Amino acid sequence: MKKVPFTKADVEKWTNTYPTPFYIYDEEGIRKCVTDLYKAFSWNEGFCEYFAVKALPNPSILRLLNELGCGADCASEPEIVLAQRSGITGKKIMFSSNETTKREYEIAINAGAIINLDDLTHIEFLEKLGPLPDTMCCRYNPGKFRNTNDIMGHLYDSKFGMTYEQIKVAFKTLKDKGVKHFGIHAMLASCCLEEDYYPRLAEELFELVLEMKHDFDISVEFIDLSGGIGIPYKPDAQPVDIFEIGDGVRKVYERMIEDNGMKLSLYTEMGRYITGPYGYLVSTCVHYKHIYKEYIGLDSSCCDLMRPAMYGSYHHITVLGKEDAPFVGKFDVVGSLCENNDKFAVDRKLPKVDIGDYLVIHDAGAHGHAMGYNYNGKLRCAELLMNKDKEVKLIRRAQTMEDYFITLDIDPQFK
Ligand SMILES: *Cc1c(COP(=O)(O)O)cnc(C)c1O
Repeated sequence: MKKVPFTKADVEKWTNTYPTPFYIYDEEGIRKCVTDLYKAFSWNEGFCEYFAVKALPNPSILRLLNELGCGADCASEPEIVLAQRSGITGKKIMFSSNETTKREYEIAINAGAIINLDDLTHIEFLEKLGPLPDTMCCRYNPGKFRNTNDIMGHLYDSKFGMTYEQIKVAFKTLKDKGVKHFGIHAMLASCCLEEDYYPRLAEELFELVLEMKHDFDISVEFIDLSGGIGIPYKPDAQPVDIFEIGDGVRKVYERMIEDNGMKLSLYTEMGRYITGPYGYLVSTCVHYKHIYKEYIGLDSSCCDLMRPAMYGSYHHITVLGKEDAPFVGKFDVVGSLCENNDKFAVDRKLPKVDIGDYLVIHDAGAHGHAMGYNYNGKLRCAELLMNKDKEVKLIRRAQTMEDYFITLDIDPQFK
């Protein structure tokens, strides 16, 4: 069963200061997750997790992750600035962008970030901006993932990365142009719950490492396994065993890298795995509606959490105070947008829900608040951080009407 690390009484207390809807993140959960990740890869000297900022772009979270040794994976100017202002600087920033503008590259180079090139043509594009950085990473798209299973098909349709032929040309060209330190990056899966994904990806990338050595005498110094490790959204799914994953990668590393007298650092760029399970969207039931189906109406909407509406994703829901109550039927749990896909859950078995009950949506800590938007004039909700003593701190206030209208301040007639 999925558990919520706070009670109805806790939320009643918090709502005196912070009305629903709000996001709340469990600091201890994130700490333990990152600590275990570092333990699982402690056999690799240079291991670093570059947290994918897009998953949860909040400075309080980034400072916590920085304290735990993480870097930041960024893809835009605001993400770079957010990382820097949270204390993550220089090579602790991985710039894994695509369709990158000139300005974004300039910002990334000035920040001293590691540039992860998405395409061969970007070498020429970068050169126009000045000398190439000493360290460069290239993003690989093998087209198909060997020994693959179904989840990781469709790489031919993926806009990311360079082909096998291109990445070899890229490394040779970069070397000829004086680049000294090299890395390889690939992200071939999303929300993968299989422990052998990273080991198989590592094997694929280590093969390329050996070829670079053989063909161009390039010693690749780091491999970025990127994100893609999944979390169990459904109550019957099992979380991945990060120690088994670390051990699986270690075996491939020993066989392919160590036994060939080589050495390199491993990086990850996880987002979902690090914060996903430790974030909750807390809403209040404001209406109950019975027509052809039964509807539970919340004070939040898919502007707060887009995943169910966008991907049809399952997010578990707990009615606080009724954790052990029996199910009484199936309900659609809906938000207030004038869009019929604004449903957090469809035909969900739930206990009897009363108006005023708090509904907690699980696994909202990654790609949750971050994907929020203002459609239908919905204002973005607040974010709270809960420590181990269940004390909460406001880490982003809710948007106000003033915030909503701010970009219209250029219109003198609009007051
Ligand atoms: C989104 C993304 C990640 C993080 O993915 P998760 O599935 O959240 O772990 C990492 N790297 C890149 C380049 C991404 O675009």
